[in-house]
Amino acid sequence: MGISGLCTICGKPSVIFSCMLCGKLVCRNCFDEKHNICVKCSI
Ligand SMILES: [Zn+2]
Ligand SMILES: [Zn+2]
Repeated sequence: MGISGLCTICGKPSVIFSCMLCGKLVCRNCFDEKHNICVKCSI
């Protein structure tokens, strides 16, 4: 509970996006900005 600042994919503390499909909080590296989804959903 509390802070949820870790990327749910790579674990880095730089979460700035949330996936439109699965709702995961991810960092820039793990996010497809063109489609607003995380890399796991974009595969
Ligand atoms: Zn990440
Ligand atoms: Zn996703």
